[in-house]
Amino acid sequence: MSKINCIGVLTSGGDAPGMNAAVRAVTRAAIYNGKKVKAIYRGYKGLIEDEIREFQSQDVSNIIQQGGTILKTARCKEFTTPEGRQRAYEVLQKESIDALVVIGGDGTFTGARVFAQEYDIPVVGIPGTIDNDVCGTDSTIGYDTALNTIMDAVDKIKDTASSHERLFFVEAMGRDAGFLALNSALASGAEAAIVPERETSVAQLDQLIANGFRKTKNSSIVIVAEGGGGAQGLADRIHKLDPNYDVRVCILGYMQRGGSPSAYDRILASRLGVAAVDALLDDQRNIMVGVQNDEVVHVPFSKAIKDDKPLKDDKYQIIQILSI
Ligand code: ATP
Repeated sequence: MSKINCIGVLTSGGDAPGMNAAVRAVTRAAIYNGKKVKAIYRGYKGLIEDEIREFQSQDVSNIIQQGGTILKTARCKEFTTPEGRQRAYEVLQKESIDALVVIGGDGTFTGARVFAQEYDIPVVGIPGTIDNDVCGTDSTIGYDTALNTIMDAVDKIKDTASSHERLFFVEAMGRDAGFLALNSALASGAEAAIVPERETSVAQLDQLIANGFRKTKNSSIVIVAEGGGGAQGLADRIHKLDPNYDVRVCILGYMQRGGSPSAYDRILASRLGVAAVDALLDDQRNIMVGVQNDEVVHVPFSKAIKDDKPLKDDKYQIIQILSI
């Protein structure tokens, strides 16, 4: 028999569509197993400040389809200090919470790992971030929805790009990771993706665009990850190199975070929420639950937060082959 009677759940870091579906799944799975659930508001900040209340099954009714997070989220500097984490532990004891599920990205798991090393509290992580930059899981909750949002936006931009015969630089989110830019480029038939993981010189990019324009195309789309040099900067440099291009820039911004989660993200979040509770009740600790080849897996935090989740190299080539 597990010694866990009450599970705390929080969302932390950047919000991602599908976080609510994960909160719902954790809450319902815990109650199904006869455990109490306490919702911790505003991530680690709310934990330190004791913004906590018990959830019943109906508290998570009708949220599976909602973007954002009903638990709110926050970044919390105090949790990076030993004093902040001590306060967090005291609050957990006061609230009789004896295990935690944290839903967030690599920063959230880094915090959870430090906390679990210092205090005797089992923690299980669920990957929720639109960036998909968490190792050990094929996808993170929110990534598929954000990818579809970008694809829909680029579809619209393409209409105006081709009508005016323009070259568009579209900036997608991803400060350190190019998953959104690379895969949205593939999904929307863009001419190129510029990502932080791979150097593309302005001359190379100019060549790619020129090839398309010279042959069959009268417009082009380049998707640039935030961390790939910035759409405006690249557009300026290309325009300088070849002033004949009618260049425009579109920075998609925060709309990429919003919206109702896709079926894929709802299913992923539901599976991982149940898996996180199962893992805790099975005496697992300090792991992330993820999905690999459609199987739920347990990944130690240390492996999940390694910062080298690779992009698939063949995708650059596919974009190039298909954009002739
Ligand atoms: P996203 O990838 O969507 O931004 P994230 O989980 O990586 O999500 P962060 O803001 O990096 O978001 O981290 C969330 C919170 O985790 C931080 O505000 C902080 O409270 C905590 N945290 C991050 N790094 C550490 C650390 N080294 N030690 C303790 N806590 C940390």
